[in-house]
Amino acid sequence: MLVLGIETSCDETGVALVEDGRRVRSNVIADQQTLHARYGGVVPEVASRAHVDLLHPAVEQALALGGARLEDVDAFAVTIGPGLAGALLVGVAAAKAYALALDRPLIGVNHLVAHVYANVLEHGRLPLPAVVFVVSGGHTSLLVMDERGGFRGLGQTIDDAAGEVLRHVRAVEQAGEELDVADVAASFQEAVVDVQVSKVVGAAKREGLGTVLLAGGVAANSRLRGRVTAAASDLGINVLVPSPALCTDNGAMVASAGWFALERGERTPLDVGADPNLPIAPGIARRAQRRPQGRRRR
Ligand code: ZN
Repeated sequence: MLVLGIETSCDETGVALVEDGRRVRSNVIADQQTLHARYGGVVPEVASRAHVDLLHPAVEQALALGGARLEDVDAFAVTIGPGLAGALLVGVAAAKAYALALDRPLIGVNHLVAHVYANVLEHGRLPLPAVVFVVSGGHTSLLVMDERGGFRGLGQTIDDAAGEVLRHVRAVEQAGEELDVADVAASFQEAVVDVQVSKVVGAAKREGLGTVLLAGGVAANSRLRGRVTAAASDLGINVLVPSPALCTDNGAMVASAGWFALERGERTPLDVGADPNLPIAPGIARRAQRRPQGRRRR
């Protein structure tokens, strides 16, 4: 079964064709970074407008590279949240239009769940249940994923996400003091990774689970990958993590998550909306309202 996945939750326009939830036929990512660079961060209105311009060509390109016609697509999967409201709406509206016009199922996908399914693209069907650690610039969650693909929250950051050292650097710079940014970044990273490793490995031990799934943009961090893997392997715990290219936002992870939802018999009604604060599990909400504009989320 061929699923076309659409991802527009932030500043990447991602469209991919994935066969049977695993085999990536094409994975097109139209990056908007140069558009936002002069503002020092992602501007929601600019992102929305760019998605409008970039989405249709990305669909055409994904189909061409994947050797398929639009009529060959069996279902359309799209990120419905969390993310930027206007950006999400562009992808959701497009996916609805394709599903309606071709009379194919629509599957709405949680962006954070899609990040977890990037592991399927890399490693095949997931050994469940497993401890899941989703870590990005705007969100950090520790969860258990059950055999049916459901999530139970174990914890999330209570103040801010792990991808940030910017505020401290700016405060010191504004005070006119000298700052070794590389040193601050390395120290900050080590402190964050220390906490993350102990939380993740501790959760696997406490839950009695032999697999940890890392996911999200910060899972591309080699220090985090290496430290979690080393600490877990000492305890006989297996750690799965996508390749760095699949850790960042893309349509393939959305298509994969959509295929597994279809396999479970799920369908999304055509009147579904975008939800900027869609939780991955009850009580695990994205802290979007705390995050000022200008920070990158992956
Ligand atoms: Zn992301």
